[in-house]
Amino acid sequence: MKSVKYLIIGGGVAGTTAAETLRGLDVSASIAIVSDEPYRLYSRIMLSKPNFFLQKIPFEQIWLKTESWYKEKNIELISGVTANALDAKAKNVTLSSGEVITYEKLLLAVGGRVRIWDLKIPEAGVFYLRTLDDAKAIIAAVPNAKQALSIGGGFVSFEMCDMLRLANLEVSLILREAHYWSPMLDEASGKIIERALEKGGVKIYRNAEVASVLGEKMVDGAILKDGTRLACQMIIAGIGLSCPTDWLKNAGVAVNHGILANEYLETNMPDVWAAGDAAEFRDVILDEQIQLGNWVNAQMHGRAAAFNMTGKHDPFKLVSFYTTQGFGITIAFVGDSRPLPERTVIPRGSADAGSYGRIIVKDGKVFGATLINRTNELGLISKMIEKNVNVAGREQDLGNASFDLKTLIV
Ligand SMILES: Cc1cc2nc3c(=O)[nH]c(=O)nc-3n(C[C@H](O)[C@H](O)[C@H](O)COP(=O)(O)OP(=O)(O)OC[C@H]3O[C@@H](n4cnc5c(N)ncnc54)[C@H](O)[C@@H]3O)c2cc1C
Repeated sequence: MKSVKYLIIGGGVAGTTAAETLRGLDVSASIAIVSDEPYRLYSRIMLSKPNFFLQKIPFEQIWLKTESWYKEKNIELISGVTANALDAKAKNVTLSSGEVITYEKLLLAVGGRVRIWDLKIPEAGVFYLRTLDDAKAIIAAVPNAKQALSIGGGFVSFEMCDMLRLANLEVSLILREAHYWSPMLDEASGKIIERALEKGGVKIYRNAEVASVLGEKMVDGAILKDGTRLACQMIIAGIGLSCPTDWLKNAGVAVNHGILANEYLETNMPDVWAAGDAAEFRDVILDEQIQLGNWVNAQMHGRAAAFNMTGKHDPFKLVSFYTTQGFGITIAFVGDSRPLPERTVIPRGSADAGSYGRIIVKDGKVFGATLINRTNELGLISKMIEKNVNVAGREQDLGNASFDLKTLIV
């Protein structure tokens, strides 16, 4: 039976950053990463960005580590293999290859997995976008398509519409909700994004759902629940993400939406940590349990978990943010921007003028914000969250777009 000091499940940015940090902290320890993808670390972010998608840059730029990097760092990458079972008491993980690896410390950095459509679909033409293989399949299909459907409102779907339009396809966007990215964004924000999409040639169907996909072998159209028939040869289904934790069910690791972890990224099981998109962790700045899906958070989680796996005991602290651009607009999310019932949403700027933010406040404290064409305020709002600035009674100032937020930060 193979035995390593540090075992990491997931070779994405969280897992690889953890391995790299561990190597820096513990020069002689044995470290192994198990990855069910057959690749070394690549930029998941680039998969939906124009330069990569439209092949304007060499494919090689997708790689964030060379093959030799793992050897040089003495980090074993076990790729194309899935971790199938965890015995947290015996401290071992069983892989799909049948191999069992025992560990001293384990990191679960398993990321997110796309939800698969439960509709009957043809053999080819329906795509998801999470992995490099997914992106390769979409890129290969584009030249044979004239019309595409993008399903779902969110970052990836927004970027996908942009890519497909840039590739000269006719694009229809199917939204189950009444406006884009409801309920995360309000109607005014959603409308700004929709205006930009429509100006860019995307046809939007609201309150709509695909009832059936036409075609035997290949996608040959779709019918919406209201009977509308749409011509398309490819469909990108962005219908949500889940956390791949089924294999942890019998291991005693506490799981909610993600793998539950405290502020040190420790799970409830001894010597088991969680990091990245998969971790639903205690955020000490916001004082709440959150799960995020962004690159910098995953990277910094990997680093923080590694420190704590080597015996440090430092809480993870970061105000996370996510930005995207396309169709001439920039959208940013910072902190925890969920408009939960006990929170107040303060609009800032003008939706009509297309420069519009929403600051999310609770108990006199800024929790997060959404910013459309106002990314210049991202840094200041991050600081307000980080420094726990008291904004009680300042709601009017926060809502006044010409009020300089800097004056609230001492
Ligand atoms: C198309 C796209 C565009 C994006 N753009 C942006 C962006 O612009 N900005 C931004 O901040 N974020 C972006 N993101 C999100 C960002 O990529 C993620 O937040 C980040 O990659 C999460 O890293 P991670 O290491 O936690 O998980 P992942 O990158 O998902 O890595 C987890 C790895 O673990 C593997 N795995 C899962 N279960 C097992 C198992 N049982 N055994 C073995 N391996 C397993 C998975 O297959 C995967 O390879 C984007 C995501 C996508 C899909």
